[in-house]
Amino acid sequence: MCIFCKLINKEIPSNIILEDDEFLAFHDINPKAPVHILVIPKVHIDSFNEANSSLMGKMSDFIQEVAKEVKIEKSGYRVITNIGENGGQEVKHLHFHVLGGAKLSWSHFTDADPQGHF
Ligand code: AMP
Ligand code: ZN
Repeated sequence: MCIFCKLINKEIPSNIILEDDEFLAFHDINPKAPVHILVIPKVHIDSFNEANSSLMGKMSDFIQEVAKEVKIEKSGYRVITNIGENGGQEVKHLHFHVLGGAKLSWSHFTDADPQGHF
């Protein structure tokens, strides 16, 4: 069983913010911003590649609720999901990072290929 499934089953502890029948939001153990929350579906899905429109629709509603719960909906925030090797996905259970609480950096990639040649 994957680490986030164990977390859902309360086999390992987490700092939960919001929970319903289908989703769970909890604080990231290694935060990259003053507010760093992970939002996961309770059903095991490997990544965004396997997510369908029905799940994503409900996920959007839930993430918006989480942003309100921690009062970052007006100041702004960022939602990220890492996919696979190049995306830097470490945990193979679909999760959305919700980052906020400060102005977030957005760095430039010097080797970017704006013509899309690769
Ligand atoms: P990713 O690199 O997109 O797969 O993100 C995985 C995230 O899960 C990282 O930001 C970790 O800090 C976080 N993480 C791993 N284990 C736990 C845990 N037990 N509780 C909370 N966050 C965790
Ligand atoms: Zn899982």
